[in-house]
Amino acid sequence: MNLIFMGPPGAGKGTQARQIAEKYSIPQLSTGDMLRAAVKAGSEVGLRAKAAMESGGLVTDDIVIGIIGDRIDEEDCKGGFILDGFPRTVAQAEALKGLLADRSMTIDHVIDITADNEALVARITGRSTCSKCGEGYHNQHKAPATAGICDKCGGALATRADDNEATVRNRLEVYDTQTAPVMDFYKNSGSFKSVDGMQSMDDVFKSLCNILG
Ligand code: AMP
Repeated sequence: MNLIFMGPPGAGKGTQARQIAEKYSIPQLSTGDMLRAAVKAGSEVGLRAKAAMESGGLVTDDIVIGIIGDRIDEEDCKGGFILDGFPRTVAQAEALKGLLADRSMTIDHVIDITADNEALVARITGRSTCSKCGEGYHNQHKAPATAGICDKCGGALATRADDNEATVRNRLEVYDTQTAPVMDFYKNSGSFKSVDGMQSMDDVFKSLCNILG
């Protein structure tokens, strides 16, 4: 099963993709995670991506298209994958179409997780993630028992550098201007569905499972 999860920053794409990946035993391909790893490693891609990521802008299409093209050829993608945070521009969607056609692959579902912008700012600025196991936390809705420590594995919680209010507002604007048009690219494909991301995390997960079967 090949899936695309869309939605503004903070809508819950990453959290849901992680759970769906586990349930269906397919990898979650998050361009954001891959780029953050590249920045941390100081690779050439990381050096090229760093400034755009810090400001909340988009990394250039050629970088992310290259990353995804390489990643879907890996062995663990043979049984399917979830694209989380890609495509984010119409040019990326066009390139993905070509990448998939070359490999005789198709997308089964494109799912847009919708949310309200003001709620997203509050959600994003309060979140943190375990640097060891990836479990997500929020200082209002899901605070860890001990500040800064993961309840599940004891790992240290980290806050993303781009999860501050000014950058978040820029990311939302970038989403509205550059990523929302990608929806039109898929809307007539028959595989496009929307899920209300303002529901509880459990209910969003149930809605996704209903769609995926
Ligand atoms: P995310 O973790 O999906 O919120 O992505 C974090 C940041 O990585 C974004 O704000 C962008 O700077 C960059 N990024 C992630 N995916 C893409 C993409 N498909 N195209 C361009 N930039 C991206």
